[in-house]
Amino acid sequence: MSRPSVWKVALPVPLPQLFDYLPAESANAVEAGARVLVPFGRRKLVGVIMRTDAESSVADRRLVRALDLPDGGVPLLDPNTLELLEWCAAYYKHAIGEVVLSALPPALRKADGSLPPAPVEYCLTAQGKARLEEAPGTAKVQFALLEMLADGPRGAEALKETGTSWRSALNRLLELGLVIETEAQAAVANPAEGPVLTAEQQQAVKAISSQFGGFHCHLLDGVTGSGKTEVYMSLLEQVLGQGKQAMVLVPEIGLTPQLLGRFRRRLGLDPAVIHSRVSAGERLAAWEALRCGRAPLLVGTRSALLTPMPRPGLLILDEEHDASFRQQDGFRYSARDVAVKRAAELDIPIVLGSATPSLESLRNAHEERYGWSRLRTRATQASLPQWRVLDLRQQKLDHGISELALAQANKTLQAGGQVMVFLNRRGYAPVLMCEQCGWPAECRRCDASMTWHRAAGTLCCHHCGAQARAPKLCPDCGADALRGMGQGTQQLEERLEELFPAVPVLRFDVDSISAKGAFDQQIAQVREGNPCLLVGTQMLAKGHHFPEVTLVIVVGVDQALYSGDYRALERMGQLLEQVAGRAGRAERPGQVILQTLHPEHEAIERLVTGGYESYASWLIEDRRACGLPPYGHMALLRAEAHNKPEVTDFLRAALRCFPQGKATAMGPLPAMMERRGGRIRMYLAITAPERPALHRQVDAWLPQVRELPAARKVRWAMDVDPQEL
Ligand code: ADP
Ligand code: ZN
Ligand code: ZN
Repeated sequence: MSRPSVWKVALPVPLPQLFDYLPAESANAVEAGARVLVPFGRRKLVGVIMRTDAESSVADRRLVRALDLPDGGVPLLDPNTLELLEWCAAYYKHAIGEVVLSALPPALRKADGSLPPAPVEYCLTAQGKARLEEAPGTAKVQFALLEMLADGPRGAEALKETGTSWRSALNRLLELGLVIETEAQAAVANPAEGPVLTAEQQQAVKAISSQFGGFHCHLLDGVTGSGKTEVYMSLLEQVLGQGKQAMVLVPEIGLTPQLLGRFRRRLGLDPAVIHSRVSAGERLAAWEALRCGRAPLLVGTRSALLTPMPRPGLLILDEEHDASFRQQDGFRYSARDVAVKRAAELDIPIVLGSATPSLESLRNAHEERYGWSRLRTRATQASLPQWRVLDLRQQKLDHGISELALAQANKTLQAGGQVMVFLNRRGYAPVLMCEQCGWPAECRRCDASMTWHRAAGTLCCHHCGAQARAPKLCPDCGADALRGMGQGTQQLEERLEELFPAVPVLRFDVDSISAKGAFDQQIAQVREGNPCLLVGTQMLAKGHHFPEVTLVIVVGVDQALYSGDYRALERMGQLLEQVAGRAGRAERPGQVILQTLHPEHEAIERLVTGGYESYASWLIEDRRACGLPPYGHMALLRAEAHNKPEVTDFLRAALRCFPQGKATAMGPLPAMMERRGGRIRMYLAITAPERPALHRQVDAWLPQVRELPAARKVRWAMDVDPQEL
């Protein structure tokens, strides 16, 4: 067989093509999916070989030779994953090399990164077994090691438990031939019995597992506490029992030690964990264990989705509506949509779970493209919380909380319950303002005010991260009249501590739980069940059940009611339903007090009287009438620069060359926050009644856009199926 003469390499550069290289001197056969080290300009880059070819379109004399194959040519990405990555690049209009490299763990994107060696295990030999029949003798640690290995092979981690001198004892046993070293075997699930499933859960498990063996997408639509996680466990038990691998993706904030503990106990198996807060080394080890098929179960966040698995059997995406499944910068993609595509390519089932499914998934379920299982009752028979809408115009307020709500809180605490106060605004006050002249502290780089963090004495911009010391006197008129306007979680915490000195007040937001372990500590305290107040942002809305919380006070969500973003109401409904769902248990049903200035707003009425399902149907109707997603399809050409004319010139030039067809482009329009981080942000909106037309026209258009002289003065990118405007 003649040696292919060029390698087509994906490189981490923002260009839409692959790059041709001559094979490295040292290389023999090579397969697609292998890492390769190549010269690129003056740099050396790690890339991935996408395919080999007999000829190059580049002139011979300009072809450069690849330097090395860091893993000896072993393909790290399998053909199925490579194909999916190419699809992603084409669908999301993003540079192929950046897409492909994002599938490797960060450690392997560097030239000096290498695959970790396969872990080893130790097993007893026949001699070793015979030795166990005899008396222990004086070599206590050696004997303890033999006893441990009598139960089956173990790795170094487990053997350490036998004592500090375990290593020398082990070496002696190896010398004596009582123990041998072997490559670690794949872990095997050893499931514990789960609870008896409710009728609804059983139905869901049956409906989903009857479709095992091929691609099928299933929406598991179950109210909070309905036992979706138990349904996942049942399905996982079946799939892992067949020796296959499975992947569970959860939102950023949902991946807690509690959840991992639950998987571990129920399935008798340590899940491999991949998310951005795991150290580079651990992440690499987990990735490699999955890629080799040693690890049967992956639990991770968005970034774990593209991990290769040789024996895939099931994908599960929990809280499928969650915004953290969408990557909002760089390679913008929806992990939910790519997961469905991945399951289809692998020909395996996928389950999308949520208490508040996205309108996209609901539409797919309605139109029977997805299976649809509903869990309408709580697994523990607890009733769902009662809503009460409080018209703020008729209430006296104390730091943003109505006196009526405070009285209810008092009653609940007296009765031994816990109270949750939800406010999606961290910091002390969202604005610091001068009462003399009206000067507000604004971010110099964004269209936003700076949030006052009083305890730290700082002003922070929550949009660009800018920080400054909070002034004592008004910088404009010099008056000693600066005052915080509006409330943040820190202020509520402070006020509630004053009002309820007898009970602890626990704050949950990114500022309060940034210290490692703080979050778990606070959760543990809540779990003890004593009366307390929880104050927090959307962090409170996710993943956790607080069975002793019987009152939820929603301080305010009115902003969403009149937002210019068509998704704002969908997100508001999901957030409220999720917050409300944290509360209540059998003996003491929960109550949710929703404070609003617009009690008559149709959205509030629908949600409170009809629940999320009817609310979502109402929103879907609206989207259908307006031709908005999921009924119409949308992509944005985003652009930003320091000067507005540069942005508008580029977008206008791009608009002029947009091809004729069913898809139409309009703009330039300002982004929801037009100025952020010192840059002006605008977009063109491209909409079409059908997806193929949109992609056809955009694909024909982009090469022209790239060539526009104005393109050099801006940062621009495509955002396909955008989640925010
Ligand atoms: P979800 O994922 O839908 O929010 P979970 O699976 O976390 O719900 O279940 C909520 C609570 O109900 C958990 O404490 C869980 O242990 C319990 N639970 C779930 N299914 C059952 C069941 N069939 N019988 C008894 N308790 C259950
Ligand atoms: Zn002033
Ligand atoms: Zn800012």
